[in-house]
Amino acid sequence: MNKIGVFGGTFNPIHNGHLHLAKGYRNALGLDRVLFVPTCIPPHKDADDLLPASNRLDMCELATRDISSMAVSDVEIRRGGKSYTVDTLRELAEMYPDDQLYFLMGADMFLTIEEWNGFDEIARTAELCTASRHEGELPILKEHAHMLEQKYGTHCHIKAIPVLDISSTQVRDALAGGDDIHELVPDAVQDYIYKNGLYRP
Ligand code: ATP
Ligand code: MG
Repeated sequence: MNKIGVFGGTFNPIHNGHLHLAKGYRNALGLDRVLFVPTCIPPHKDADDLLPASNRLDMCELATRDISSMAVSDVEIRRGGKSYTVDTLRELAEMYPDDQLYFLMGADMFLTIEEWNGFDEIARTAELCTASRHEGELPILKEHAHMLEQKYGTHCHIKAIPVLDISSTQVRDALAGGDDIHELVPDAVQDYIYKNGLYRP
């Protein structure tokens, strides 16, 4: 049995905060692999400044290509339409029937996950892993995990992974303002963004 982390997101673009969470959980739980799964169309997000899926997928590939324990899955992009985590986890569970799935997310996602389409099935298919995006969130996350465990028997992992306060919004804003992004994203992603003239105002 392998332990597979599944990390969904728009990744518009992927940044160091994403990689930090994935590495943190890989190390904390001994995950054999973390799969980054870029969404096709996010169900609850303003898609105004969303880059095409192919660009977001490319950047995920570039960010993970030198990390042997990390890979990118195009299941949501191939499926097309709105991307629901429940469909993705079902598909991955069929692909990896002998493995245990761990769904990784930041605090913002974890605190709303009960409202997601097919939450019951999500929680039966994968163990849930989250960490703070801002200092001081840990108690709220622990309390929320406790509630989900009591109410649904959900398996939650709340690890005290140091906060790395970066968001894709911050990267897009920096680019729009002509600011440097080299501390926010891997070099290969920065090069790709510049070379393709992405996120220009
Ligand atoms: P945006 O600002 O466009 O919403 P984002 O940085 O939040 O971008 P998403 O693609 O929306 O990135 O998020 C994908 C997943 O990564 C979510 O579960 C989110 O909570 C998590 N995440 C994003 N940034 C961080 C971070 N710095 N630390 C921990 N988790 C993060
Ligand atoms: Mg977000």
